[in-house]
Amino acid sequence: MAFGAILGQEHALSLLQKALVSARLGHAYLFYGPRGIGKKLTALQFAKALVCPGATAEACDRCASCHKMTTGNHPDVVVINPEGTSIRIEHIRAMQRQLSYKPYESQRTVVIIDGCESLTPPAANALLKTLEEPPASALLLLLTSKKDALPLTIISRCQQIPFRPLAPPHIQAILLQQGVDEPTAALVATLAEGRVDIWMQTEINQVLARRQSAYTLLLERGHTKSMPLFLLARQCAGSREQCEEVLHWLSLFCRDLVMLKVASTTPLYNHDLQAELASLAHSLPSAEPLLDLFTALEQLRHYLAMNVNPQLTFEQLVIQLQELLRTPGVS
Ligand SMILES: [Zn+2]
Repeated sequence: MAFGAILGQEHALSLLQKALVSARLGHAYLFYGPRGIGKKLTALQFAKALVCPGATAEACDRCASCHKMTTGNHPDVVVINPEGTSIRIEHIRAMQRQLSYKPYESQRTVVIIDGCESLTPPAANALLKTLEEPPASALLLLLTSKKDALPLTIISRCQQIPFRPLAPPHIQAILLQQGVDEPTAALVATLAEGRVDIWMQTEINQVLARRQSAYTLLLERGHTKSMPLFLLARQCAGSREQCEEVLHWLSLFCRDLVMLKVASTTPLYNHDLQAELASLAHSLPSAEPLLDLFTALEQLRHYLAMNVNPQLTFEQLVIQLQELLRTPGVS
């Protein structure tokens, strides 16, 4: 794989490739931007070029070092991911121990820390020490979708590389490359809101089924009568990501419904459900409850991001749906 295979991030790639060619590399880079748009893929590709002895603006993709990167076994590239919801000080200390030795076979040791917003305060403090006095052979790549949640002291010690949400044609192209059929790729490209990760990590049909569950929840105005909705409630209670995803789908439905209420010709995110959504919009007396619901959904997403219990968030969601979308004759 080469940098050219990473779509929609030309600006970030040109900054990194310029650094590679000029050999004026910083000790720490902060890749920031929404989740699921290629930050980690780019970090791995950049790391591959950094440890490849034959690299110029790209890794050679032929040598033993490149092969080890492709199989995820390079001894000089350390990847740290959050364990559960946090990156703890033990992880940072283990990394610092490795950085205290010379790289095994390359010029440098590259550390990729994904989800930096999950650093506990002691871990962030420990990392700061490395950023303040990095070993000469160390290069750190910090990745975050929540730059605002990082301490300014960390941000200010990194060169910042912004990543942008992917445009629908890029998402469509990525999905077509993965063998997804054209109508599904076209639907997903508009639904994905610039993110492609959830669509790559699981079966598309499963994601679309979860969208359908969220849609049923909306149709039943939060009255969880059918069995799949009990399952949905249980999934949401057990997982922050699932709860976040339901809120995401409901926000998209809500936007589509508002659009149908105020401007009947606007293209919809959920364009495959145009007729059903138009009829639902028609059944509501005005756009006002939808706008209130939209605000409520944003608030719940915010609470969830602030670590409110997902089960509590889901219960609040159900209450909001019941209250805001209450229509005469629906109990
Ligand atoms: Zn190579």
